[in-house]
Amino acid sequence: MTNQTETFSGSKHFRLNHVANGVFAAISVPGTGSLGNAAIIDLGDSTLVVDTFLTIEAAEDLQAAAIELTGKPVSYVINTHWHSDHTSGNQVFAPEAQIISTSVTREIMATFGTERLARQLANPEPIVKAMDELDEKIQQETDDKLKKEMQWENASDREYMNILPKLEYTLPTITFDGQMTIHGSDRTVQLITYGGGHTQSDAFVYLPEEKIAITGDLVLSKHHPVMMYANPDAWLDILERVEGLGVETIIPGHGEVCGVKELHEVRSYINDIVALVTEAVQNKKSIDELAVPEAYVDWYFTTYFKPNVKKVYDSIAESAASTPL
Ligand SMILES: [Zn+2]
Repeated sequence: MTNQTETFSGSKHFRLNHVANGVFAAISVPGTGSLGNAAIIDLGDSTLVVDTFLTIEAAEDLQAAAIELTGKPVSYVINTHWHSDHTSGNQVFAPEAQIISTSVTREIMATFGTERLARQLANPEPIVKAMDELDEKIQQETDDKLKKEMQWENASDREYMNILPKLEYTLPTITFDGQMTIHGSDRTVQLITYGGGHTQSDAFVYLPEEKIAITGDLVLSKHHPVMMYANPDAWLDILERVEGLGVETIIPGHGEVCGVKELHEVRSYINDIVALVTEAVQNKKSIDELAVPEAYVDWYFTTYFKPNVKKVYDSIAESAASTPL
């Protein structure tokens, strides 16, 4: 069949990637209001979108692409997890579409997420200040790759701040635990959660016939996994179970469409960070001195390396404190 992505008029926020018949990845263009990836799946008699980007404009382009590619309005939206770059565009698809997440993800959005947005709306000053500080850092940065990444980060943040007053935080309307199946006329889609690894609760979409998984941030391709809210052990366990399904193609949360090799790379990264921090603690070395391991220096999201190290350090310190002598 022809590559249907050619019929889409395009978006500055993402590139479309034809993954299989009726399955499209919307790959984020760095420094725009998408920030993360999304996916469009034609179920035959209905259309499903996975994740909704960081801004309303990016989500509107995603909706336009879904309608153009499938010839139908979007009936279902899946939020793989609560992070803003996967949920902020929800309002564009509601109320026509049912928005689906795990019950834990919805609970976090209904409490922490809603309160955080209210704080940001009442007082945007801290975010504006952080963006200005990052601007100063960018001026002084001599490493070209890092400088480019920080510029992208600031550009996405600015797009987010521009839409903040228009943002209507839109919660999922349907929740599930364990597994849920959507039976379209042409295709069956499984929504699966094995608990939380990247966040407190992570879901992914699996197309069993095509062996395609849309993993949210459980798998990133050539990007530092984001461990700010992570449980490293649980994450590793989830990755093993995802691989065990026989997945062949992965639409990751960030980066290009990939395969099981990149899932293994995420596993290695988590193991390496834990080993690096454990070794530093044992040798009473400061974690501030830890550098990005050679295997990951070309990866994006470099600015997450230090917070990742700190997060693992804090969890090691916490478990040491709770272990009786
Ligand atoms: Zn995330």
